[in-house]
Amino acid sequence: MIVVMKPGASKDQIQHVIDLVREYGLKEHPIYGTDRTVIAAIGDKRMVDKGAIENAPMVDRIMPILAPYKMASTEVQQERSQIKVGPKKFPIGGKKVGIIAGPCAVESEDQIFRIADAVSEAGCIGLRGGAYKPRTSPYSFQGMQEEGLKLLAEARKRTDLAIFTEVVSVDTVDIVAEYADVLQIGARNMQHYALLEAVGKSGKPVLLKRGLSSQLDEWLLAAEYIINAGNKEVILCERGIRAYENYVRNTLPLAAVPELHQRTHLPVLVDPSHGTGHAHLVPPMCRAAIAAEADGLIIEVHNDPEHALSDGAQSIRPEVLTELMGSLKKIAKAVNREM
Ligand code: PEP
Ligand code: MN
Repeated sequence: MIVVMKPGASKDQIQHVIDLVREYGLKEHPIYGTDRTVIAAIGDKRMVDKGAIENAPMVDRIMPILAPYKMASTEVQQERSQIKVGPKKFPIGGKKVGIIAGPCAVESEDQIFRIADAVSEAGCIGLRGGAYKPRTSPYSFQGMQEEGLKLLAEARKRTDLAIFTEVVSVDTVDIVAEYADVLQIGARNMQHYALLEAVGKSGKPVLLKRGLSSQLDEWLLAAEYIINAGNKEVILCERGIRAYENYVRNTLPLAAVPELHQRTHLPVLVDPSHGTGHAHLVPPMCRAAIAAEADGLIIEVHNDPEHALSDGAQSIRPEVLTELMGSLKKIAKAVNREM
């Protein structure tokens, strides 16, 4: 349920409600708005005497939260969340659209530095690159691991880009969090609940990709695991789902973006690279995603896609990215956003 305080409630009055919520065995999540504070109280409400809380000083009203995902829902917070990432603290989820680009995997110093420089020059705000790769086959390249993380941190030093990189296991959360600005949870791990809880305790923003066959409610409940573990900084990423078409690697349902904006205050990015699987489809779907109100994009870019160790077919070249940025700026402007 949500306890809505009256405008002007004092710190002590808010604390009093928090104490009551705790007394009932619920967990409090206060949200301090510009006008008033609301306190979401999460847990088993069967034992709660709502009247007692409603009677506390400066409580306006109590409302149930109907969505199964509570803290992620717009019922609890209407204002869109802004999550600041990287050395420049770029706000994802505000008026500005943020573009993140980079290779599927970090492969070498030369590769990641070249791509990082190109991504930075193109005007992106973040560099992506997997150091730990969740590959479908155990025989495929599994990533450079800690060495890859170190190269990403070096690339950040050169460019000031925010580093987005995947974490695939609970026991590597700490090391990835030491180097990365944003921890990516891949599609295959969207329902790896122990991992969600671990990144929830990491203190770093999380990019939560949609599972290959997950519905929006399941995805938002996965976000809820992270928030419930103590981390409100969750960014969702639509990366396409498994459908029956085979001209694409995945089917990219862009209607998810405006639908998510109705259901959740969390920012929504789109990944048209995994969403299509083919480089020629990436620029048009990037444009479509911005038109559909995505808060940003995460795009695979490679300087030599023909020799990429993973996902070469869907990686665009740096020159294509640079050209694409020009058209994305125009589309952002047309939908009242900035880039
Ligand atoms: C990736 O970003 O390289 C990746 C493995 O993505 P996904 O988890 O969406 O398949
Ligand atoms: Mn990839």
